[in-house]
Amino acid sequence: MFRSIRWKFVTIYFILVLIAMLVAGIFIIKEIDDLHISEASQELEGVRHVLMPDLQDLMELSQNKELVLNIIEDYKRVSFGINEEVWVIDDNRNDVIATTGAGDSSFLKDEDSINLMVKARQEQKKQELVIKDINDNRAMVQVYPITNLGENTGILFLRRDLSSVDLTVNKIREIIIRVIVASSLATIVLGFIISKSISDPIKDITRKAVLMSKGNFEHYVQVKSNDEIGELSETFNFLTRRLKKSLREISLEKTKVEAIVNHMTDGVIAVDNHHHIILMNPKAIELLNFGTEGYFETDFDKLIEPISPTLTYNQITTEVEDWVGTQLITIEDSIVKFNYAPYVNDQDEKTGIVYVLQDVTDAEKLDAMRRDFVANVSHELKTPLTSIKSYTETLMDGYVDDPETQKQFLKVIDSEAERMTRLVRDLLQLSNFDSHKITFYKEYNDYIDLARKCVNQLMMSAKKKNITIKMITTQEQLVGLFDLHRMEQVVINILSNAIKYTPENGSVDIQVIERDDRAIVRVKDNGIGIPNDDILSIFDRFYRVDKARTRNMGGTGLGLSIAKEIVHGHEGSIEIESEFGKGTVVIISIPMDVTGF
Ligand code: ADP
Repeated sequence: MFRSIRWKFVTIYFILVLIAMLVAGIFIIKEIDDLHISEASQELEGVRHVLMPDLQDLMELSQNKELVLNIIEDYKRVSFGINEEVWVIDDNRNDVIATTGAGDSSFLKDEDSINLMVKARQEQKKQELVIKDINDNRAMVQVYPITNLGENTGILFLRRDLSSVDLTVNKIREIIIRVIVASSLATIVLGFIISKSISDPIKDITRKAVLMSKGNFEHYVQVKSNDEIGELSETFNFLTRRLKKSLREISLEKTKVEAIVNHMTDGVIAVDNHHHIILMNPKAIELLNFGTEGYFETDFDKLIEPISPTLTYNQITTEVEDWVGTQLITIEDSIVKFNYAPYVNDQDEKTGIVYVLQDVTDAEKLDAMRRDFVANVSHELKTPLTSIKSYTETLMDGYVDDPETQKQFLKVIDSEAERMTRLVRDLLQLSNFDSHKITFYKEYNDYIDLARKCVNQLMMSAKKKNITIKMITTQEQLVGLFDLHRMEQVVINILSNAIKYTPENGSVDIQVIERDDRAIVRVKDNGIGIPNDDILSIFDRFYRVDKARTRNMGGTGLGLSIAKEIVHGHEGSIEIESEFGKGTVVIISIPMDVTGF
């Protein structure tokens, strides 16, 4: 309670008034007391003036007792003061020769009285003292030596009772105490009222400041005066308005930055100098496969160490110059590119690291594919070109005279050229698929008819290997919407593969049926089959199970890739089931009424 400014104010105010009143009171009492004592002194001096000349005329005081008594009696008659008492004592202090007082003279034997008398007599001059009796009553005494022709003849002892002075002083003291008590009470009351006008606005400001610290900026302080407190209140309100505005701006800015960071296609992680995460956007969490837990303030080094120890804050800050770098990390099936750089505080000191994460899986895969593709194409072209070149050179050198051999050579050159043409044609077709330049001309056509036509086309090559090629169907017709020319290309490719990879005397069946509103074309052979490991990659460009052998058979390794593109263009699917050494089944399934054109 006494720690409040209000109580402090009242206490100080009270103490100040009390001290001032006490000092003034003490001073007044002392002055009055001094005044009265000096009056008493003057009164006694007056008595001496009256008595002393007569007493000094007498030679021997103790022998002129009558005369002394007369002098005293005269004095009593003429100018007797009620408060003054007179004693005439012989020079030896043995005898009181005369006195005005009827009262007690025993105090003359007191040490103070004796000392005064001895001193007055010795120094032959007046001695004065305020003495107190055993009841604490004060009295003023003046002692004069009585002399005659320079000889001490006796002592004049004057005494004035000061009880009336004490009475007055006590009365005044009482009044002053009352005044002090009253003014102290008034001070307390006034102090409370005045301090309230100071402490109330301060309390109000404190209350509003507490609310402000809790984020509530809706409260303002009432300005009730235009003094310093009023100024403080106005300044506080101004501060509240400014803070509110600044916070609104900051929060707007924060929301903007948050929206940008949260919706960035790149991941962002900011780590402080204690390697604690201070920011990690959803994309970064997704790229690092961290799940949805809160990562704020967690130790980044512990999280990243199992993924890549070289990306930890500790490692970068100790090993990497300028803390700037790039790293490619493989996380499960994805390739993530980490770009990192430090961020600095206002003193230009590096205080943390910002990591920017990019999913470069597609770009990297594309790059790898591009590299593979260029290598494959170069390789595919190199073989026929080498062959053509060597045959042409041999012919040009003129070493071969025999026309039959020459014809044989030219046939090889032609077939190699044909192979290259096929390859270039297939590549062009795939490139058109990639750039969506291929248009499907879909019309209602008969799948049974299509299959029959393809079988007929390949009958000769099947016969060459004594392969029986059979068509199995229970339906007369199976009409669906498809691009006749392209689907013919697919079926021919599948059938010719079946014939190509089936040894002599084998068999190839083609089955066309309708199932669940889809046309199913199934080509089955009992040929060499495809090993299990190769089946997944069989639709990849340039993929061949036995490269040397299949190349000799004239394959480019692009047939199935093209078939897949065409089937997908019909919203269908193509699958291969095979058992190595036993045979292969290719199943094409296409909706009867495809929607896309
Ligand atoms: P290619 O022009 O070399 O035949 P494809 O893309 O048509 O290219 O076929 C890719 C590879 O798949 C072939 O090289 C071959 O190894 C394998 N393959 C395709 N069909 C069959 C099949 N019916 N039997 C065995 N292997 C096959």
